[in-house]
Amino acid sequence: MLGLMQSHPLLVSSLLVHAARHHGEAEVVSQGVDGAIARASYRAVERRARSLVGGLSGLGIAPHDRVGTLAWNSQRHLEIYCGVQGMRAVCHTINPRLHAEDVAWIINHAGDRVLMADLSFVPLVEAVAPLVGSSVQAVVMLCPPEQMPAVALPEGMALLCYETLIEAGEAAGEAYQWPVFDENSAGVLCYTSGTTGRPKGVLYSHRSTVLHALGVNMPDALGFRAVDRVMPVVPMFHVNAWGMPYAALLAGASLVMPGRHLDGASLARLMNAERVTITAGVPTVWLGLLEHLRASGERLDHTRRIIIGGSACPALLIEAFPVEYGVPVEHAWGMTELSPIGTFNKPKPAQAALDPEAHRQHLLKQGRAVFGVDMRIVGADGAALAWDGVQFGDLQVRGPWVCSAYYGEAPGSALDGEGWFATGDVATICPQGFMHIVDRSKDVIKSGGEWISSIALENLAMSHPAVAEAAVISARHPKWDERPLLLVRAAAGQPIDTAELMRSLSGQVPRWWLPDAILVVDELPHTATGKLQKTVLRAAYGDTLMKLAEA
Ligand code: AMP
Repeated sequence: MLGLMQSHPLLVSSLLVHAARHHGEAEVVSQGVDGAIARASYRAVERRARSLVGGLSGLGIAPHDRVGTLAWNSQRHLEIYCGVQGMRAVCHTINPRLHAEDVAWIINHAGDRVLMADLSFVPLVEAVAPLVGSSVQAVVMLCPPEQMPAVALPEGMALLCYETLIEAGEAAGEAYQWPVFDENSAGVLCYTSGTTGRPKGVLYSHRSTVLHALGVNMPDALGFRAVDRVMPVVPMFHVNAWGMPYAALLAGASLVMPGRHLDGASLARLMNAERVTITAGVPTVWLGLLEHLRASGERLDHTRRIIIGGSACPALLIEAFPVEYGVPVEHAWGMTELSPIGTFNKPKPAQAALDPEAHRQHLLKQGRAVFGVDMRIVGADGAALAWDGVQFGDLQVRGPWVCSAYYGEAPGSALDGEGWFATGDVATICPQGFMHIVDRSKDVIKSGGEWISSIALENLAMSHPAVAEAAVISARHPKWDERPLLLVRAAAGQPIDTAELMRSLSGQVPRWWLPDAILVVDELPHTATGKLQKTVLRAAYGDTLMKLAEA
């Protein structure tokens, strides 16, 4: 017997329509490439998304075609997210921080027909265009006609203006009805940053995106409300800005889009001027904000929560923001293949009984599974490990917003026989279900057969006042195979005494975890998504201990 309830496919356009009908006055505030602020209501955004469909249809874009974006977080990017998916085409968000050759490879692999680019990406577009001539027919610059730049494009590739395209599509958009189609249709394509090998495309469906938005907007996760003003600092080209644009639409929360201005001073200014209540991004961004606030004496007047994910959250951030600025920090974990949110660290009743030190340690965990994601840890033999908070193993996940195969690969090929997806992370899970990432499986240090967590050492090093940033890599060792090497960048005006830093670490970890050497460096390399680039560090410093041993 089947139920007798209405059957509506879960479509991204329904999020936009809900926002326009029920929260039509909520606003999207965008900081442009030039720093200028623009405002539009959800009602206006929905209307313009329909005009965009009209404009794109006029260019011959049809269902299933891919439309690439090279864009910061902005109202226009939101219109593209919703308009392109709403017409059943596929929005392909491209990471503009990648090298031009990688961007071109991704565009060719995706088969993008149109590219939509912010003004700051003209040089990148010019470098990429000659390499993608076969599929891309037009580049649309995200600006009004009076700001149109000169862009050198190969013959046959048209240069268009976004606002002109919207205007051209206005009449068709007027009467346009968002089409209803199979919720399993592809909606967004996003390539993993891929520290090794070619990037891989994760292809979200309308169903997975809407379920993710509903699932992650529970009170113990993003928990956006209609009274919130949400600032996604994590870029819309990186896993849907963690699903925040969709969650804001369904909650009716206003969005504050920072554009390209992600330094501490710009973020503090925007957060206060636009009364941002909730914001989220990677640790590097919040380290920058903290440095700025401490130096300038500015406060955060409206912000109630800072959500941190993408890399392990340093203890410094978890402690400094609540104590110094009255803003709690929440730690979350996810990945491109998970749409991206998997876990959120929000308390259960048992956490109330933790003493301050245990509580501090607890907050460093990545959190417990959001409904919609199941997880387990397995040992080297593939058998599930106990949730005792001690044993660590490979973290696997499954659920309706977890990827089953990469774009262009065989269905189900990213899963094992039981339907689990291997995250590449190594973790513990405690009896209450809180997961703690110990390392990436390729970053964990295997010293004489025992494992050392690079993340744990980095967190300890970063809690030293003279250390602005730390990276621990496995360095080759003549006796133990691999040993930890700590690289540190000094905080402004604070010289690092490496012997003193080593002393401060000892006693906090087992003695055999202590790094064999500490090197002070001027810069640490980051990936296009702001994570420490350990492959580069291993290539540069992997032989340090061998050389020291020889000497
Ligand atoms: P990406 O697909 O680029 O978002 O990268 C996903 C990876 O980032 C995960 O598999 C983790 O290794 C790492 N990651 C994300 N969030 C966290 C976190 N809160 N703590 C530690 N690592 C994280």
